[in-house]
This record gives sequence, C-alpha cells and structure tokens, in this order.
Amino acid sequence: MPHAPKAAVSRPSMAASAADALGGSGPRSLTILGATGSIGKSTLDLIMRNRQSFEVVALTAQKNVAALARAAREVRARLAVIGDVACYGELKAELAGTGIKVAAGQAAVIAAAAEPADCVMGAIVGAAGLEPTFEAARQGRRLALANKECLVSAGAVFMRAVERAGTELIPVDSEHSAALQALEGALPESIEKVTLTASGGPFRTWTPEQLARATPDEARCHPNWSMGAKISVDSATLMNKGLELIEAYHLFPVEPHQLGIVVHPQSIVHCLVSYIDGSVIAQLSNPDMRTPIALALTWPRRMSTPTERLDLVKLGSLSFEAPDEGRFPALRLAREALVCGGTAPAVLNGANEVSVEAFLAGRIPFPDIARIVAECLEAAHARGLTGAAESLGDILAADKEARRLARSLLQPHVSSEGNGSR
Ligand code: NAD
Ligand code: MG
Repeated sequence: MPHAPKAAVSRPSMAASAADALGGSGPRSLTILGATGSIGKSTLDLIMRNRQSFEVVALTAQKNVAALARAAREVRARLAVIGDVACYGELKAELAGTGIKVAAGQAAVIAAAAEPADCVMGAIVGAAGLEPTFEAARQGRRLALANKECLVSAGAVFMRAVERAGTELIPVDSEHSAALQALEGALPESIEKVTLTASGGPFRTWTPEQLARATPDEARCHPNWSMGAKISVDSATLMNKGLELIEAYHLFPVEPHQLGIVVHPQSIVHCLVSYIDGSVIAQLSNPDMRTPIALALTWPRRMSTPTERLDLVKLGSLSFEAPDEGRFPALRLAREALVCGGTAPAVLNGANEVSVEAFLAGRIPFPDIARIVAECLEAAHARGLTGAAESLGDILAADKEARRLARSLLQPHVSSEGNGSR
C-alpha cells in the first residue's frame, strides 16, 4: 500500500516557529475559512476573549451574510468573503463604510486562503473545503485543520502538499488534538496503538428497529457535543469515527492495524496512545471544541479558554465499550476504504455526503446512509474507479463520480416507497 508521509509527531521546527505566537511579539494574524459554522464561531469566541493576541486577516462563509458581516465588524477583519456570488451585494451593503474589503465566489474564498497570515483555520464543511484548504496548505505557514475531507478524501496528496510547503499542520478535531498531545516526543517505533474514542452518538443503545425510524432531528441531537448538522449525523452513524480513523492514519506515524476505536459515552477521554512498554497516555477534557481550537492556534503554547474544568470526583466514573459494527457498519466501511487506499476514501466520503444530505432532507431512512455508501464503494471497485490518486484533480473526479453514483442509488428507494415527492 502506498504510504503517505506522516506529520512528524513533534517537529522541532514546529516548536521554534510557534514559540513567539503569543509570546509578546505582537498579534498573530489569522484567517478563518468557514467563519459562520460551529468551529468558526468557537474560533471567533476565542479571538474576542484574546483581542490583543490576534489580528484577523480574512473571514469566509458560504451564504450567511448577516453572521459573516457581524463577525467581520466585531473582530475588525480586513476582508470578508461570501462563497455564494448572489450574496455579494448584500454583504457589500452590510459592510459599507467599515473599511472592510468584500469579495464573493469560490475563487475569492480560495484567494482568501492565500492571503498572508500566520495561521489559517480550515473550518469549511465537506468536500467544498478541499480547494480552499489545499490553497492554505500550500502557503507554508500554519494550518489549523478542522475540515476532515482534505485528509479523508485526499490524504496522501494533501500531506504531500503540506510537506512540500513546510506547512505546520495542527489538527483541530478533538481526537487528533488529543493524539498530538499524547504523542509528543514519541519515537514512531515506541508507539503500539492509537485509540480514538467515540461517544457512540445519540443512537448508541438503539435497536435496529429504532434505527430504522430515526429522524433527522434525533440524529442532529448529539449527547455531548454541539456541532454542525453534517458532522452530527456522521456521529450518529459512527461514520465520523471512521473518517477520523482515516485522518489519524495520515497525521501520525501508524499503520491501519495500529488504529483502534473504543466507545466512551462521556466524551472526556479523547484519545489514548499505547506504548511498547505498556504505558498508555491519554488526553482528557470536557467536550468543548474551544480547547482543541485554542491548542491549534497556539501550539506548543497554550492559552486560557472558558471550557468547564474537569471534575473527576463529580464525574465519578468513565465507561468504555466496544463499537458495534453490526448496527453501525460505517466504521467497517471506512476501515475498508482506508486499507484499499487510492481514491476509495474519496468515494466513501462523497457517497456519504450525498446520503447524509438525503437523510437530512427526509428522503431516505437512517440505515440507508451506510447502505448507499457500501453500494457506491462496491460499484466504484467494480468499475475500476478506486485507483491511485496522484493529484487533487484525481480526488475531485472520484468525488464527483461517487456523488453521481450515490444520487442514482437514492432514486430506487424513493420510488419503491411510493413517495417520490418527499
Ligand atoms: P458547519 O456546518 O457548522 O459550518 C460550515 C462552514 O463552512 C460555514 O461557515 C459555511 O458557511 C461554510 N461553508 C459551507 N459550504 C461551503 C462552501 N460550499 N464553500 C465555502 N464555505 C462553505 O460545520 P462545522 O461543524 O463547523 O464543521 C466544519 C468542519 O470541521 C467539518 O469538516 C467538520 O467535520 C469538522 N469538525 C467539526 C467539529 C465540530 O465540533 N463542529 C469537530 C471536529 C471536526
Ligand atoms: Mg472528533
């Protein structure tokens, strides 16, 4: 299997270049791609609490003009970019007289990623984030990475771009942020296993019959984390953990068989690293994304956050259980795509995005999300579409084909139910 270059566990250059980030040598400049989303808003919250430490270069969003304009005014951004060109006039009017530059369209979002800044927060959801986040990765500065698709769909290609530019890649996802901390200073040969924890989502204890009737509102209601709709549904199917498994493979010096998943309903322990001497190092914190976001902005330094402090006595106990791949087949599908490599993870991701969208729109029942992803992967293998991925172009083509396949698989279900108008 082709092996991607791994992000160094603890690069000395990383520590040196970040050492003055918040060390009194002036504000750190920052761009947020996806500023109006759940991660974007948490990042803005931290900036507002630490105004003296950050200067905002650019903020981007897709459609939410009011939220983008409000945030741009609050943090005095130099540039605000809206992805949907139809919203340009409205954004321009909202920011008239503020001195904040305004732009619109996908090319403008990508250009915002290339604006000189010490750090880019990559928080656009889905494969739509691929091109802007790749652009940020090419800049040779720091990329705080929340967008999963760069690593899931385009892992090896993306890591090559990161290495080539000498970009500091710091994961924002809580499990990978935890792994980064638990792996600090580790020699690759001393690592036995990296175990990501999964909350199990809102349907952890549901029977297959209950899962068949699960509604979008129920799936959106994560027991511990407050997140965007897409990732909340992915947490309910456990696809999110499957995607994270693929991310971890590209970020850290481990093979697929060294990656494990354990269900931990309290979401307090985020990742555990087992070493060859029997030691296990874990990172714990209350489930609040501001903790890993803060670390991604300031690593290897730390900044204060309002995250509720952990009280182990109050918690009393933490529990762990094995994931049930029978009820949650997405985990197995993700592992298979990881082992297959090439464009298989891009097919998995594209098919999943279409299925999740269809589920959220009430077009398919919950178990069909994994069913459609499985059928897409099978069809893609059969048609020879899961070959090598050499460039972002290969990834985008596989993503497009997977979406087409997934959409074609949505149709039979709708008509067989006799409710094609839903
Ligand atoms: P969200 O849906 O709340 O926000 C998405 C952001 O992306 C918004 O600002 C939106 O305007 C922008 N966007 C959407 N479509 C776009 C397009 N076509 N072009 C440009 N911008 C577009 O999502 P989120 O929950 O903040 O998640 C963002 C990313 O971070 C996802 O990849 C997610 O998997 C990952 N992540 C999120 C969390 C979390 O707690 N929310 C945790 C770990 C990782
Ligand atoms: Mg996570």
